[in-house]
Amino acid sequence: MLTKRVQSLSPSLTIAISTLAAELKAEGKDVISFSAGEPDFGTPEVIKDAAKKALDANFTGYTAVPGIPEVLNAVKEKLKRDNNLDYKASDIIISNGAKHSLFNLMQAAIQEGDEVIIPAPYWVTYPELVTYSGGTSVFIETSDETNFKITADQLKAAITPKTKALILTTPSNPTGAVYSQAELEALAEVLKGTDIMVISDEMYEKLVYDGKFTAVASISDDMFARTITVNGLSKSVAMTGWRFGYLATPNSELIAAMKKLQSQSTSNINSITQHAAIVALDGQADDEIEMMRQAFSKRRDLAVALFNASDKLSVIKPDGAFYLFVNIKKVTNDSMEFCKRLLEEKGIALVPGLGFGSEGYFRFSFATDEESIKEGIKRVIDFCETY
Ligand code: PMP
Ligand code: GLU
Repeated sequence: MLTKRVQSLSPSLTIAISTLAAELKAEGKDVISFSAGEPDFGTPEVIKDAAKKALDANFTGYTAVPGIPEVLNAVKEKLKRDNNLDYKASDIIISNGAKHSLFNLMQAAIQEGDEVIIPAPYWVTYPELVTYSGGTSVFIETSDETNFKITADQLKAAITPKTKALILTTPSNPTGAVYSQAELEALAEVLKGTDIMVISDEMYEKLVYDGKFTAVASISDDMFARTITVNGLSKSVAMTGWRFGYLATPNSELIAAMKKLQSQSTSNINSITQHAAIVALDGQADDEIEMMRQAFSKRRDLAVALFNASDKLSVIKPDGAFYLFVNIKKVTNDSMEFCKRLLEEKGIALVPGLGFGSEGYFRFSFATDEESIKEGIKRVIDFCETY
């Protein structure tokens, strides 16, 4: 009765584990979860105030499918101000989270016979969306020995006549790796002369602790033309539940196709969220965003030091995002079994590396308070001693 298409999908492992951890906690079990990719802060007050005002002013009706002109303009201005990117408001579509933006994009641009290059470890959703659209994922392996970044030579070797797109995620989920301008320039050089599109997922843009964020489309005119910039407010502004993602591309045919698809599926996103997002994008919440970034930075240092004090585990200090991708190869190569037993025996929820396409690691989200980080890592290390 079900379509082959939907049967080919796996559920999101990150969501499955954080949901299970929440259920166990609700049953009264002593569980500490480091599985959720979600800030533990509330949304900044000034943004909540804008939402309350929008509600009181009865901005409660349908809006234009890609978003109201004011919010499209706020995204356009943000991309200019922060990233030096010159998009037009008509180059932008607002969707129900960046996940939805990526879904629309894959449905509009990828089909049977297309290959999409994905550096591994990758965010769990990418290969699923590629499969669902009929395409094939081609993975480029990276490891902690290469700071989890692909090189120009690796990219060159992965390209075939069928390559339709490359997905880049900087800062990365699950590794926190951030590509420098020079590294992006080297990748851009490989793409020159091809018609490969670059899907640049910049969700963690504001969460950079060392080095500098570079928007992929800002590398050159050539990269601007081939890049689809995807971003949102979930992580950097603590707005996961509001569902605001956006996508920008100067490719007007592609934009028109995605608007059509969204007009026949979800229509506009929540009207109140759109009004709140204007304030999140225009700089009014920047102090609170910076406060969260600093808190994450402190937690990162704490967690990295604690893990690296164990002789069984090792982790590279990530430049961005709020994840550690911890190497467990001295303990085991079976990350699924490791994480399953860790949850059962020690009440610690982590996401196995296998789910991100890299065996021998787990992902630890440090978007959690310091006491939980200390207690949680102590339990992980104790567990490794007896594994
Ligand atoms: N991209 C990456 C790399 C992510 O980690 C997430 C988080 N779930 C998303 C996109 C999607 O975020 P959202 O749909 O909440 O905007
Ligand atoms: N992106 C987050 C994560 O990786 C949220 C869960 C999801 O959407 O997969 O945990």
